[in-house]
Amino acid sequence: MRVLFVGGGYVTVWAHRAMRRAIRRGDVTTTVVAPGLTHRFHGFTGEVLGDLLPPRRLVTDLAELCPAATLVDGTVTAVDLERRRATVRTADGVTEVEYDQLVLAAGSSDSRTPPGIGAHGYSAKDPAGFALLHRRLAQPWRDLVVVGGGLAGAELCAAIAERFRDDGRRIQLVHSGPALVPELLPRYRGLARYVHRQLDRYGVRVRTGTAVREVGPTGVALADGTLLPADLVVSTSGQRPVAVPGTEQLPRLPDGRLRVDAFLRVAGRPEVWSGGDLAAVPHIASGRPSPANALWAIKHGGRLGRNLVRQLRGRTPRRFGYPGLGRSACLGVGKGAAHLYGVPFTGWLAWFTRAVFFLAYMPSRRQARAAAGELLTAVRTRHRRPSPSTNPSTATSDPSLEQA
Ligand SMILES: Cc1cc2nc3c(=O)[nH]c(=O)nc-3n(C[C@H](O)[C@H](O)[C@H](O)COP(=O)(O)OP(=O)(O)OC[C@H]3O[C@@H](n4cnc5c(N)ncnc54)[C@H](O)[C@@H]3O)c2cc1C
Repeated sequence: MRVLFVGGGYVTVWAHRAMRRAIRRGDVTTTVVAPGLTHRFHGFTGEVLGDLLPPRRLVTDLAELCPAATLVDGTVTAVDLERRRATVRTADGVTEVEYDQLVLAAGSSDSRTPPGIGAHGYSAKDPAGFALLHRRLAQPWRDLVVVGGGLAGAELCAAIAERFRDDGRRIQLVHSGPALVPELLPRYRGLARYVHRQLDRYGVRVRTGTAVREVGPTGVALADGTLLPADLVVSTSGQRPVAVPGTEQLPRLPDGRLRVDAFLRVAGRPEVWSGGDLAAVPHIASGRPSPANALWAIKHGGRLGRNLVRQLRGRTPRRFGYPGLGRSACLGVGKGAAHLYGVPFTGWLAWFTRAVFFLAYMPSRRQARAAAGELLTAVRTRHRRPSPSTNPSTATSDPSLEQA
């Protein structure tokens, strides 16, 4: 059986782990197409921007993670679902890859909103954009605006604010929703308050309930008419599923995610599989699409790989039955916010739990060992508690959290 994987993210790496034995026996051959042939571990994005970890800690060669796969450094530019072949653009030209089973694991990319973000802002996900952002932070800047107040935006703000604290920089977080970190609401309101409090203590000005209308070369225009001067703008506002050309006729939800069944097969297409950010995988209990984050992508990949092998052996594929575990965020060294099996906790315990958990789920043991050492060093040598903010302009500005 020839399996083609589009993308080299979590789904692909964990599917390969699940299929290891079948691949070793020669029952399955896999081809992975991904630009750059690297896996990116986004979990420690904040730690890298906060200068606690080097950027190379986020990037691992796919040759290390999927050693038995045929790796093609390129981008899938077309899929012919009827003839079961994909067109791949590489540095050397265009090549075709035939398959028996196709795994669409292309994940998501930064959304192109708000207008102007592509020309004047920085990306947290796209590898080239992220490298530019990392370099730019090391150059002089004064005003930073982060667009998007989900966990990713809050973590990013906190990491940068902690790195440059007491430095006279101005950092603002703009969130169009009524309250910060909607992922934690309404159930974990106390955790959301904790996140807000940490940003306040760093002096981050949080603006909720107002959208960014446009990003320009000198700042950001808000929908309410306010102009925020900024020499640095980063957007974390929304990821959109990648549209792999040639797959347009596959069924999707309105948000662009592929409709897949409980076995991770694309509806109506038994030879096409998907998971991760690109797929709406039904949750075993609620039936609603499972969240788009790394842990779910890892679990999707594992089940998908095992189901491919079951299908090969003539067995019935199994349902995706992972119920979920929790969420966590890092708001600076020793300042975590997490909930695990419904139990919320904060501070050092949450920070440490998250770090251990992320290290365990880093795809490369080599990278995880190095990151563990670097985090320990960061804790020992760099941790200082930020002084509580005395600036009234940084007081909590999210009334919904204050009322809770
Ligand atoms: C800044 C940031 C911080 C995050 N922090 C966390 C966190 O703390 N915890 C957490 O659980 N999740 C976090 N996430 C989310 C997590 O990274 C994603 O949910 C996860 O990466 C999804 O995995 P995936 O396998 O679906 O896709 P990805 O890991 O995105 O992999 C997709 C792959 O497809 C490739 N690709 C795309 N298009 C094509 C094409 N046409 N041809 C070939 N290859 C293609 C890409 O290059 C990439 O290799 C974060 C994301 C970001 C951006």
